[in-house]
Amino acid sequence: MSVKVEYHKFDVVVVGAGGAGLNAAQVASQHVKTAVVSEVYPTRSHTISAQGGISASLGNLEEDHWHWHMFDTVKGSDYLADQDAAEYMTRRAPEMIIALEHIGLPFSRTPDGKIAQRPFGGHTAEFGKRPVKRACYAADRTGHAMLQNLYEKSVEQGTHFYSEFYALELLVNNGTVNGVLCYDIQNGEFHIFHAKAIVFATGGNCRIYQTNSNAHINTGDGLALAMRKGFSWSDAEFFQFHPTGIYGAGNLITEGVRGEGGILLNKDGERFMERYAPTIKDLAPRDIVSRSMMKEILDGRGVGPKADHILLKIDHIGIEAILEKLPGIHELSLVFAGADCTKEPIPVVPTAHYQNGGIPTGYLTQVIKGNMDGEEYVPGFFAAGECASASVHGANRLGTNSLLDLVVFGRTAGEQAAKFAQENPFVELVEDAGKEGLATLNKFANANGTNTFGPVWEELTRIMQTNVGVFRTEELMVEALEVLDKLEAKMDDFRVVDKSSVYNLDLIEALELNNMILVAKAATKAALARKESRGGHYRDDYPDRDDANFLKHTEVYLEEDGKTPRVDYRKVRMQPLTVEPFPPKARVY
Ligand SMILES: Cc1cc2nc3c(=O)[nH]c(=O)nc-3n(C[C@H](O)[C@H](O)[C@H](O)COP(=O)(O)OP(=O)(O)OC[C@H]3O[C@@H](n4cnc5c(N)ncnc54)[C@H](O)[C@@H]3O)c2cc1C
Repeated sequence: MSVKVEYHKFDVVVVGAGGAGLNAAQVASQHVKTAVVSEVYPTRSHTISAQGGISASLGNLEEDHWHWHMFDTVKGSDYLADQDAAEYMTRRAPEMIIALEHIGLPFSRTPDGKIAQRPFGGHTAEFGKRPVKRACYAADRTGHAMLQNLYEKSVEQGTHFYSEFYALELLVNNGTVNGVLCYDIQNGEFHIFHAKAIVFATGGNCRIYQTNSNAHINTGDGLALAMRKGFSWSDAEFFQFHPTGIYGAGNLITEGVRGEGGILLNKDGERFMERYAPTIKDLAPRDIVSRSMMKEILDGRGVGPKADHILLKIDHIGIEAILEKLPGIHELSLVFAGADCTKEPIPVVPTAHYQNGGIPTGYLTQVIKGNMDGEEYVPGFFAAGECASASVHGANRLGTNSLLDLVVFGRTAGEQAAKFAQENPFVELVEDAGKEGLATLNKFANANGTNTFGPVWEELTRIMQTNVGVFRTEELMVEALEVLDKLEAKMDDFRVVDKSSVYNLDLIEALELNNMILVAKAATKAALARKESRGGHYRDDYPDRDDANFLKHTEVYLEEDGKTPRVDYRKVRMQPLTVEPFPPKARVY
């Protein structure tokens, strides 16, 4: 190729430096030469904003058991989770908390010095009988504490960091994943990382929604890169709308607020969750609470001049408890809602928060290629964290199960990738490796057409919010696909105003927008094809769950043209590792 490319060789390359990437790197670098590439400086990854906690059945404040945690995870997923992965994750949770504590994570404590735990939505004792205190936390800054610790540990172990490197193309030779092409945002230079094993940990994609709780980097790059190489996005239609985003801003108010006693009120001051989930009320799983809130609003019981939001009341637990356990929330609501939550309720609405599906993997994080006829592992390719799907979250993730996923599957990915690298030689790069990524970059670097980022991005996020949001119908989603096709065409007549090669964020945004349109199309096609309601996917035209036809994973692949999504399916792994399966049941709380 004519452009200058610098080549690097590592046993393991981790793409992404959030909780999943750093857990993987921290483990892999103990065994083999490991690099991390990340679009942002590691501690600016989205994990930094995780607030409320990480789940584990430590039983520090009341009796708990990993099997109860597994049951809650499977039931929370609306039975779409793979039960081998759910068992693997929940069984390993307690040892993971101890491992985090040993690398210095400053968990909040009980008066007698144990790790403190609080209740969270959908976490129960004795298979659904009552809420249980299972979330371990560091005040309301759990992700912050975790990421700082992991970064420190990874650096200490000699992991090589390439920060502000943007991944453009996943490299594959004859079915084996063996590298990644990156663009150095600081100076516009290209780098190929040739590796024995690649771990994708590129985070989620909820920036495709207008109201969301996500960081700017959460644009689904990893999914787009994987799909363009013939891999699939599993359960693409399942997004989590978190009930309590700040009205008008979208920033998250952690479920920990309800865990500490916060309640949701409609315009009549009614604690309406008592009607929708009589047993666990405001601590029902997020899909149920979000839908209940939207129903209150649509039925005219919303709050405010436009009757378009709900109130979250927490002042009754007292100013001291708020400032000790929820200091970040106090600050966030003051700054973004103008509400002092020690005295008045916080105005909230559901906000797009989490991508439940992802690049499909086995419970040992090896990427899978599969359909209803079977599945096979992709050599050299591992994935963990929000970009991946093991699958433990299925159609709806339980709060605090994401940070646990990052630690359990992140560390497993590190172990497995290192093992793969120790047992296998390097696979040669193909001639002209990286040419597709370079072509895409050149297309946008030299784009002098008509359309610019702002209007296209605004239209994309608006149509996803209104037509592929909490409530969906065939008509709305068909319209969304038409709009998305038009937006895709606009990317061929695009303009990137900044032509420099130093910190050209105009260019990076164009590349991300290009990925976001692909990801939005894939999600919408998957949602259109799933003619039932399950977890975070609710169809007004198909309001019931349909296990006979849809108890299966969606797998979205791209057609040969590299841009048209094709919907396929794969069997759910219903068999756990050692215990009896939890058969699908009606999901009542
Ligand atoms: C406000 C908020 C609070 C939350 N609180 C909790 C909680 O209390 N408990 C819980 O369990 N979960 C919580 N979550 C969810 C959880 O924080 C996330 O799901 C999780 O942190 C995702 O981690 P990750 O490592 O997969 O990805 P991220 O932390 O998003 O990291 C992604 C990484 O990928 C890199 N990357 C992306 N694209 C590219 C590219 N093209 N090239 C190179 N690098 C790239 C980025 O630079 C980044 O380093 C919360 C989420 C939010 C938004």
